[in-house]
Amino acid sequence: MKDMANIKVAKFGGSSLADAVQFKKVKDIVMADKNRRIVVVSAPGKRFSDDNKITDLLYLCHAHLLYGVNCESVLGMIEQRYRDIAQALSLDVDLESEFAAIRATLKKNMRVDDLVSRGEYLNAKLMAAYLGYTFVDAKDWLFFGYDGKVDYEKTDEALCNALSLHRRLVLPGFYGASPNGNIRIMSRGGSDITGAIAAAAVGASVYENWTDVPGILMVDPRIVENPKAIERITFAELRELSYMGASVLHEETVFPVRNKDIPLNIKDTNDPAAPGTMIRESFEGESEEERSRFITGISGKKHYSIICVSKTHMCENGGIIRKALEITENYGVTVEHIPTGIDSFSLVVSTAQVEQCLYALLSDIQRVCEPDTVKVTDGVSLIAVVGRRMAYKPGISGRLFGTLGANEINIRMIEQGADEINIIVGVEDKNFKKAIQVLYNSFA
Ligand code: ASP
Repeated sequence: MKDMANIKVAKFGGSSLADAVQFKKVKDIVMADKNRRIVVVSAPGKRFSDDNKITDLLYLCHAHLLYGVNCESVLGMIEQRYRDIAQALSLDVDLESEFAAIRATLKKNMRVDDLVSRGEYLNAKLMAAYLGYTFVDAKDWLFFGYDGKVDYEKTDEALCNALSLHRRLVLPGFYGASPNGNIRIMSRGGSDITGAIAAAAVGASVYENWTDVPGILMVDPRIVENPKAIERITFAELRELSYMGASVLHEETVFPVRNKDIPLNIKDTNDPAAPGTMIRESFEGESEEERSRFITGISGKKHYSIICVSKTHMCENGGIIRKALEITENYGVTVEHIPTGIDSFSLVVSTAQVEQCLYALLSDIQRVCEPDTVKVTDGVSLIAVVGRRMAYKPGISGRLFGTLGANEINIRMIEQGADEINIIVGVEDKNFKKAIQVLYNSFA
């Protein structure tokens, strides 16, 4: 299909749409590239740090309804936010009727999805009017099945049809339609996923995710001041970093685009010329300079417990680890890592997950595994050092451990993923920040 070639899907987050000034930046960005034919919007976010996100206010409205409290003052604030944008940009959108329709449906048993989805719906109406693009309601193209999963066949077809009828579209993020036609919202931050689904549906050349940061940062800026942004990262690396605490995107975002090999580019609405972060399955033709950077990013999480089970001749006793894992499974505890020795193994688990059931779990291990000793160490942080170029490169882990040792940080646990894109070390919680800082300084 010739007309579907080279389409860019651009999704803008709430902070990029918080007011008329941000709307103008978005328009400049969209108009600067004629291939940006599909624009996906979030609801207006915060304009300043103490401000409220529209979605939060809509949830608040719903809570009022639930408890039979009049929500007019909150709804009035929401209405004013949209009116301010429409007025400043002289947009011809009938907000009067839209809010009259919302007020007409407000009642105690109103579905939260119907109300909360209005944040994205109304913002898309305004953006469509501002850009001169066609508004397509998410309930008319993004379909969920009975199992709550996206019905990709139906969804892809509906969006491609809309795009063949209208050249340029604005789509509200965050919701779609259930098989019975009811609106269904996604989890918080879900507009990221909407953008990815749209990009996959039309086979976009790129999915641009516009936000208010320069891209994915090498480390958490609360730990290292002004860290570098990552220019290129693979989907696999991103998954490792996100799992260990780095967050920029909704974690479900990558799957639709990754399956279709569509690059995902995180961009900064406030600095559109900057490259942002490009996320792909793999990168070819990287420069010498890029190839000399071994670490892509570092992330970590605090508050883990290590349950160390020792038993003489354990390695000749088949099944002991399986039995222990059956026990953790019974308690709904996820085991993150299982470092093993000849006569011992450890279960690394989140302290919050075992807090309530620890003693019952330990006594089950005693009874079933009949160990010599079981020891629990709390207060462990896991730090993931992630980098696709570490694979088969001698000396990286030596440097990593050397750096921690030279800074008197004791390592409690070490693990390396089979594909060698990450090394995970366990350190004491009190060393969490320092470990990340020294590793960043050594590798960035
Ligand atoms: N507005 C929704 C939220 O605040 C969805 C989104 O922005 O992606 O979570």
